[in-house]
Amino acid sequence: MSTNSKDSPLFAQRALSHAQQLAKIGRGSATPAEKAAAEYIKAQLNSMGIPEVKVQLFSGERSLWLFIALTLGLALVGHAAYWLLSTPLGALPAVFIAWLAFGFSGYLLWCKFTQDDYPLRKTLPHAPSQNVIAKLPPTGEVQRHLVLVAHLDSHRAVFWFATDFLVRLFTPIAIAAVFGVYLAIPVYGLAILTHWPALGWLGLFLALIHFIGWFTGVTADLGRYSPGANDNASAMGTVLALAQRLKAQPMQNTEVWLAFTGCEETSGDGMLALIEQYGPLLKEALFLDFEMVGIGDEISYIRQEGNIRPLTIPSETEAFIKEAGRHYGLKIAKAPLVGAATECSILWRHGFKAVCLIANRKGSTLMPEWHRLTDTPDHLEVGCLERVHGLAWDVLQRFDQ
Ligand SMILES: [Zn+2]
Repeated sequence: MSTNSKDSPLFAQRALSHAQQLAKIGRGSATPAEKAAAEYIKAQLNSMGIPEVKVQLFSGERSLWLFIALTLGLALVGHAAYWLLSTPLGALPAVFIAWLAFGFSGYLLWCKFTQDDYPLRKTLPHAPSQNVIAKLPPTGEVQRHLVLVAHLDSHRAVFWFATDFLVRLFTPIAIAAVFGVYLAIPVYGLAILTHWPALGWLGLFLALIHFIGWFTGVTADLGRYSPGANDNASAMGTVLALAQRLKAQPMQNTEVWLAFTGCEETSGDGMLALIEQYGPLLKEALFLDFEMVGIGDEISYIRQEGNIRPLTIPSETEAFIKEAGRHYGLKIAKAPLVGAATECSILWRHGFKAVCLIANRKGSTLMPEWHRLTDTPDHLEVGCLERVHGLAWDVLQRFDQ
């Protein structure tokens, strides 16, 4: 691997300059800025002499936060039904209406977190989005497929992400908001049976949490998008640099696909569109997904993700990446925060082999600059991009053998 360590600084520098270009403005999901990023990628791949760069169009969800507003708004209807209708209608009808609202809210959350389709999904605002897809053929016969994945879009810089303190506060509030929808059902039921005041207070506390969540949901889209230098221009730059290197030093028997996906930050519609169209061709492929690979002195892979029903990396994929990452001190990422998920869980859910690589600062569980307005290119570290490039290149070599 001696050529690897010699070449990595050069390609890391290229990854950095791509990231600098891509992170000049925020790239909201299904917006013209996301499309401009896709056009930049396509132009770069064309200029490398990669033939057949495809733009796959789809209709993508514009905001994750409107889903939050919808579900927690329903929960607020439940609280209001209990507190406002008990006198005019009687306790039992009031609690029954509250249960219907909590039940429907809980059902939508369950579907979302288990990645099932849910009613009203199509009624949330959608707009045109795209994936950029390209293939790099091997010198010999195609025996394997590997897909390098980086998402195009960046997230709204919602105030919960603005400081480390708020990010830490966000986690328990998000847990309380999600599980509170289910908890409210027995709490109000027992409240009318036992007339125990503490249960009423617990209900009001949950109502406050749901109000905070709902308010965040309805106001989130008024703010700006994060420039997304680390999340995820660092990954796009990394994949572009790998593409350039693969063009000069092709694989022997591995066809490498590049997938730059839209709408990862809202609902993963880009990955879903890719799976729908190309899934049958890539059933045996290994997906290597890059997330926030521009800041930090450690690289980790995500072992498990998702809420309510978490998904885990397939064991053979884990064994492979652990072995490949040994030389790089590859760690297991701490369980991502509530509400945070990557395209890997979508791939795992559909039965694909996938690994998500993510960089972090030693000893910190926080993701550097995650969804912040300060996620600008000047915070990117070329040393981090170099380690990630080196590891990815070793993974490619290993997979090709
Ligand atoms: Zn991301």
